[in-house]
Amino acid sequence: MAEVKLDFLGDLRRTHSCGQLRSADAGQTVTLMGWVHRRRDLGGVIFIHLRDRDGITQLVFDESKNAEAHRRAQDLSSEFVAAVRGVVTLRTPETINPNIATGDVEVAVDKLWILNESRTPPFPLEDNVDVKEDVRLKYRYIDLRRPRMQRNIIMRSRIALAIRQAFYAQGFLEIETPFMTRSTPEGARDYLVPSRVQPGSFYALPQSPQIFKQLLMVSGYERYFQIVRCFRDEDLRADRQPEFTQIDLEMSFPQEEQVYEVVEKLMLDICEAAGKPIAGPIPRITYAQAMRRYGTDKPDLRIPPFHCVEDLFPNAGLTTEGLPLVAIHIPSTGPLSRKERDEIKAFGTERGLRVLDDLKRLERDFAEPLRKVRERVNPAENDLLVLAGWAGEKKGELPEHTVLQACGQLRMFIAQKYNDRHKLLDAEILRFLWVVEFPMFEWDSEENRWSAAHHPFTSVHDEDLEKLTTDPAHCRAKSYDLVLNGIELGSGSIRIHRRDVQSKVFAALGFSEEEAKRRFGFLLEALEYGAPPHGGMALGLDRLVMLIAGEQSIREVIPFPKTAKGTDLMCDAPSPVPERQLRELGIRLVEPK
Ligand code: ASP
Repeated sequence: MAEVKLDFLGDLRRTHSCGQLRSADAGQTVTLMGWVHRRRDLGGVIFIHLRDRDGITQLVFDESKNAEAHRRAQDLSSEFVAAVRGVVTLRTPETINPNIATGDVEVAVDKLWILNESRTPPFPLEDNVDVKEDVRLKYRYIDLRRPRMQRNIIMRSRIALAIRQAFYAQGFLEIETPFMTRSTPEGARDYLVPSRVQPGSFYALPQSPQIFKQLLMVSGYERYFQIVRCFRDEDLRADRQPEFTQIDLEMSFPQEEQVYEVVEKLMLDICEAAGKPIAGPIPRITYAQAMRRYGTDKPDLRIPPFHCVEDLFPNAGLTTEGLPLVAIHIPSTGPLSRKERDEIKAFGTERGLRVLDDLKRLERDFAEPLRKVRERVNPAENDLLVLAGWAGEKKGELPEHTVLQACGQLRMFIAQKYNDRHKLLDAEILRFLWVVEFPMFEWDSEENRWSAAHHPFTSVHDEDLEKLTTDPAHCRAKSYDLVLNGIELGSGSIRIHRRDVQSKVFAALGFSEEEAKRRFGFLLEALEYGAPPHGGMALGLDRLVMLIAGEQSIREVIPFPKTAKGTDLMCDAPSPVPERQLRELGIRLVEPK
């Protein structure tokens, strides 16, 4: 770096932020501090955009007015840190900059302090410059200076504040739970931390505070919440992080209804704080309805549901009899080309569907049923309507489920593909939905046994208690998901608070009493000491902020995220450790299996 004389901060204090000045401030002498965002040198006059987290202010160094400040401003380059003192001046009408909040004014600088210099940043800090993500992640501290990232991180902080306020207003206490603990049953692998003082023993990082929050209810805290980091060692999928943040809550003596009320109030307050207010109530559908109407347990309500119309085509032989025939309706696509229709068909075929897109042709033989379909669906002129059903044999565990799921995927495929035409999937629209009454168990065909659809502490529906051992397939759980724009934000349940019921559920899950005791003995014991009825849920904060900020990836709203491979490119973690550290822990490395 070139030699630049640097100044001390001394007792200099800023009077305003770089986003604050307006025309009413004209005439004031102000002190601003920030980073050199952009610089324009016109010879006798140098313009600098000074940036801080609040915004950008234009500085003017005019040689004819202050030769010393102008001379020093020649040393300034991108991302130098500077403080200036000067007078707020109104811009002439033709130089007003409508793109920045301070665009009516500029500061005529009479003194400049250069507080630090900067190497040329590895990428420009403008929002609309396309920079490779791994470069952004390697220099995250610079990436985080970009206005877009600052907006996201500031929004995240505001949301966190709104969460705390909403919970406190509803009588919740923020209580911490340990990070170094033992395995929690959320179905992923644990991250382990070896104990040095007890060689051969390991802590597990929590996949969720599930057990601790239940214990807090046993301890009588009644309403708990936490904005808490959770850790899951899962196979890496595109938008997963090994550590992520949950809004976790638990309450004593609640019906499901009360959990919905608390969380709905929370969501309304969050959206309000983020400047995207929504109106309640959040609609609800059962899991069974969600499958019949959307072919998924996370419906995106920005697009209309589909309709099962097999009843209108008895013995028509169009698709496999006895399975759903679905009318998919996507508004405002306009007419599709041959190629587009073929793409839709190919997507369906890959998933085992037969897609009937040429309704005109179908009209010849099925005029009356089609009229009834249109009556049910009520499509407008420019909308797309296609029928889809199963092409092949009935097969698999739950064939109806498979057909509906495939149709649900097709519905989203079409909606996404032609979104530029109809703008239905507008990120500005936030459509929340409760999905309730999930099944209690899922069949695990690998392990050949039932597994908990939510987790093993979930209550069964009062009416289904007797079916636990006789008919697990038809047991409904007191569990619920909150979905936003087709993405699962979180799930929760009313918990089992009775030891006898918990034993029955463990038995249905094929856990022996010994195994249950070994894994969750302390919770089971706690249930024997006056555990109140309780329930709660957890919501993914990263996803919520991502959706509210209109971002496509949670990495855009996490300050220091890891790559899809779980690597922190900036500090190069995970990394090997010195042999000495391993020895202290009694660990010897072998080739992983
Ligand atoms: N612990 C659950 C989870 O992390 C949520 C809950 O049941 O409260 O998904």
